[in-house]
Amino acid sequence: MPIFSPSRRWQPPFMPFKREKFSKRALAALEKVVKGPLFGCRMCGNCLLQETSFICPMECPKGVRNGPCGGSTAEHCYVDETRPCMWYEIYDRAFRMGREEKLLEVLPPLDWDKVGTETWGDVFEQVKHLGTSKVFKGIMTKDSLSRATTWDMVFRPVRQPDWWEGDSEYHAPKYEEPVSDLERRLKAGEFVVTSEVMPPMTVATGKLSRNIDMVKPYVAAINFTDCPSATPRMSSWACSSTAINQNAEPVMQIAARDRTRVGLQAEVLGAYNLGIRNILCLSGDSMNMASEPKGRMDVIDLDSVQMLWILRRMRDEGKYLDGREMKQPPQYFLGAAASPFASEPKFQAIREHKKINAGAQFFQTNLVYDPDHLEIWLNELAKRNILDKVYILIGITPLKNYRMAKYMNDDVPGVYIPVPLLKRMEDAGDNEAEEGLQIALELVEKIRKLQGVNGFHIMAVGWEEIVPRLVTEANLLPAGFVQPEKV
Ligand code: SF4
Repeated sequence: MPIFSPSRRWQPPFMPFKREKFSKRALAALEKVVKGPLFGCRMCGNCLLQETSFICPMECPKGVRNGPCGGSTAEHCYVDETRPCMWYEIYDRAFRMGREEKLLEVLPPLDWDKVGTETWGDVFEQVKHLGTSKVFKGIMTKDSLSRATTWDMVFRPVRQPDWWEGDSEYHAPKYEEPVSDLERRLKAGEFVVTSEVMPPMTVATGKLSRNIDMVKPYVAAINFTDCPSATPRMSSWACSSTAINQNAEPVMQIAARDRTRVGLQAEVLGAYNLGIRNILCLSGDSMNMASEPKGRMDVIDLDSVQMLWILRRMRDEGKYLDGREMKQPPQYFLGAAASPFASEPKFQAIREHKKINAGAQFFQTNLVYDPDHLEIWLNELAKRNILDKVYILIGITPLKNYRMAKYMNDDVPGVYIPVPLLKRMEDAGDNEAEEGLQIALELVEKIRKLQGVNGFHIMAVGWEEIVPRLVTEANLLPAGFVQPEKV
């Protein structure tokens, strides 16, 4: 299998921000000339090729450095359909080379002080530091373990700077008592339901408040999305704060797409101050889904895995990303999205494993309409021994009409609706909404019996009125449920 992937280098190489010494510029020019044609290197200055089976991840149009996004497919990238998904190719090759466990290492965001400069200088420095002859002997030995260890001693410090210290290990939360009511219920073994309430597109909050009051008695927590389809709406933290004022438990969603590393840390501290404890970290829909004019699509400052790693370390180690210590660290129950249908289940399982290692304590999955495929994904998680390290809430969306079903299946990344279900919706005529509800009830009945399922996450997509009926008819009412008075 060839190691080199002559590449298209879809985006141009980065340029350095400052003038470097001549020797460094010469080395950078040489690195660009060699690694550009061989790997499509963009000169990110923070090379990860060792961990990504020698396919450069910076060709991903989102610039994600820790694995595929929820839109990954074998056919093409969902941001740019004219190219393959680089992360699908990385995972595919890693499995063929037997290097898939390397994909578990939590990799750092770019250090923009190094972007555009060479990485080879850092490697030479590290070899000098370890002793050139020792490294030479270690690489030339016949013992493959010694070779791998030497290789890692050279490259690990280069790709894992002191301020990051990423690894491939699981880090159990360093606290005992649940930090939120959602966590308390899940820890107590309750089968829970969470539900989305759509943030408004206006400053009027009447409908938002009514929807919160309507679904609150039926669910353990309410999610507030963070500008889905890259379209602005009221912020998730503001809606979460509104929910707290109405005695409801919020899950604040936060998308990497719109955050810098400074903005993320500032926002979650502010959220804690507002009483928000459940935070769901997402990469976010690509700007490609937004209306014109499109914002920048090529590089995000952080991906969702990096967000989890930063927030977990803020909570458990009391440290900011830059290493500064906090006198009083925040406490969060951290969640992430999981995508059972994005690419192959064994690929996705590695991705979910990495998120758990980075800090995810609960998953809310993308929409599920195929319980059989879901079971394959759950089995892959079971094989990795991670089902006891995370709570899994399966995404359910009742289909309101056939048009919506078609749109979900054809245009929403990571969503697959089996043909028989599409046919049922098409044939339902004026009874579409009832048929959609019936399908959702049947799905709940099948999925609730699967191993590792701790509850459901209802994404009603603007049809919040259906939530009380769906929860009631599916026998999913929460413990201690009190029927709200009719108004
Ligand atoms: S990870 Fe960075 S340095 Fe390595 S090949 Fe890709 S762009 Fe170049």
